Amino acid sequence: MRMGSPVIIASERGEVGLVEAMRALRAGGSAMDAVEIALRAAEANEADHYVGVGGIPNLLGEVELDASIMDGSTLAAGAVGAVTGFPHPITIARAVCEQLPQHAMLVGRGAERFADECAIPRGTTLTEEAVRLWKEGLTPEALDEAERTQGAGETAYRRSVLARIQAMEPPHRHPWGTINVIALDGAGRLCTGVSTSGYPWKYPGRVGDSAVIGAGNYCDGRYGGAACTGRGELAIRAGTARTVVDGLADGLSPEEACVTALERTMSLADPFRAQVRTLCLTADGQHAGAATVTGATYGLMTGDHTEPEFLPRAVISNHFFIGVETGSQP
Ligand code: ASP
Repeated sequence: MRMGSPVIIASERGEVGLVEAMRALRAGGSAMDAVEIALRAAEANEADHYVGVGGIPNLLGEVELDASIMDGSTLAAGAVGAVTGFPHPITIARAVCEQLPQHAMLVGRGAERFADECAIPRGTTLTEEAVRLWKEGLTPEALDEAERTQGAGETAYRRSVLARIQAMEPPHRHPWGTINVIALDGAGRLCTGVSTSGYPWKYPGRVGDSAVIGAGNYCDGRYGGAACTGRGELAIRAGTARTVVDGLADGLSPEEACVTALERTMSLADPFRAQVRTLCLTADGQHAGAATVTGATYGLMTGDHTEPEFLPRAVISNHFFIGVETGSQP
């Protein structure tokens, strides 16, 4: 078994769990352990409104969570979609992967039933702050802002939400923000994990790319692991994470693979001018990320880091959304 130096990377705001996850890797823990530890910390972070506890709810005001995990050594995967009442969907996804190997994805009530069987704790996921942001995103000012920054499709959808629920207040400018974590352990095993509360105001039952293997998450220990944040429907349509890993298999550098997959993804017609970002870590510890905007970063820890280092993502060219915003989402 190869004993090398562990590496872990995370998308924006995923750094909250990296120190603890790296501690586990240094102690000989597996890449799966590290990914779960890092994502549980992100899911527990109430200040993050795009994942776990504190996630902005769906159009009915209910928090529905998606997550997935993929083991690059075996290409085994587990995913859950539209889970309510459990703060840590990544733990349920891992349980699907390890304890229900006949299946790769469970959604809704089935996933919740399975989590109960596995004695995974239930807990509150909706916070007052998330409710406030949910309301703020539906005010006239927020709709105007969404039209300007995210396109007519976004505004039309939010208006339809308003029509469905009738009565709300005010804007959240960047409604995307999943967490990706990719780890390479000391034994050379790779694992990729993703967790999200998905698109705020989403239609109940909507499952995004974070739970779809090949779309928002893909890991093949021979080449690398990749994951996405941003508009999940685009990543589903383009098979974005799998495209990144295919690029690595074809000999592209991590940055080229992230950029190429993102360019293909963003070439799809879409009335929602939302961002997408890609991230990858190779089997030999190289990493990169790409984004549709300037200023986007990802967090890194190797065996030598005592705290996360933030690295810039490559920016794809010729994209209509470039430069419109440089905020922390997704
Ligand atoms: N990719 C996620 C989804 O579509 C959202 C996000 O990254 O914020 O559910």
